[in-house]
Amino acid sequence: MKRKLTLIIISALLFLSGCTPSSSTDDAELTIACTTYPVYLLTQAVTEQVPSTDAVLVVNQQVSCLHNYTLTMEDMKIIDQANLLVINGAGLETFLDDVLDGRTYLDASTGLDLRWNEEEGEYDPHIWMDPTLAGQMALNIATGLSSVDVKHASQYQANAAQIISELSQFQKAMKDQLTSLPIRKLITFHDGFLYFANAFDLDIVASVEEEAGAEASARRIKELSALINQYHLPSVFIEKNGSTSAANALSQECGVAVCTLDMGMNGTGNSLADYEALIQNNINTIREAYK
Ligand SMILES: [Zn+2]
Repeated sequence: MKRKLTLIIISALLFLSGCTPSSSTDDAELTIACTTYPVYLLTQAVTEQVPSTDAVLVVNQQVSCLHNYTLTMEDMKIIDQANLLVINGAGLETFLDDVLDGRTYLDASTGLDLRWNEEEGEYDPHIWMDPTLAGQMALNIATGLSSVDVKHASQYQANAAQIISELSQFQKAMKDQLTSLPIRKLITFHDGFLYFANAFDLDIVASVEEEAGAEASARRIKELSALINQYHLPSVFIEKNGSTSAANALSQECGVAVCTLDMGMNGTGNSLADYEALIQNNINTIREAYK
């Protein structure tokens, strides 16, 4: 799965064959399928005030992250009915490998400075957890949409500029909220919080899950207990819709609290404010756990 970045750079072509409306294309409805909830929220923000665009979310399931996700018939239907598919990219959507083959899509991770995960031998795909990178994803989406829907290019670009500016201020405000945090080290559930940690000067000392979907072994619990004691951590962090058994074992062994972070793989929002709420909720959880 060492996909080279060059292979996932996209030339955003427009309407996929079979989906082009036969009438005038001037005001044709542009239906944009977005693989993940964060990509959907960013696409909503990029298409704000652009008439006749419709962003739809493909995966909105009760999952903690998408590593072991399997595409459903319903997902495929949403993708097939859309004019354009926007993906997170960076290797997150392995469940789409067969679908993407030979299909035109827009990759929101194109050109981003990705973390290389040495242990897994692949890029870390959790880019949306860093607001600065989320702004760059929005710009990629805007650039792709501009070439598909030239008529509204200036609006897409203006929206992206606004999103980047807002997310920059937002990130600074969140950082400020963490300045007096007494502990900056965290144990999280899976290794999805490294961009988030980087954005907010936090330090992930370990992830409970060594491999996606695998339960922690007794040896792993022992290692984590040692880290908890070494750094005097009052809490460990699990993830919304993720497994709780290892964290509960740690709680019993070390007396730590178990708090829940959110990767944002499902939700009911539709705007940039909902993206910010996702990040803010995680900041709040950490502040509360470590106060
Ligand atoms: Zn993940």
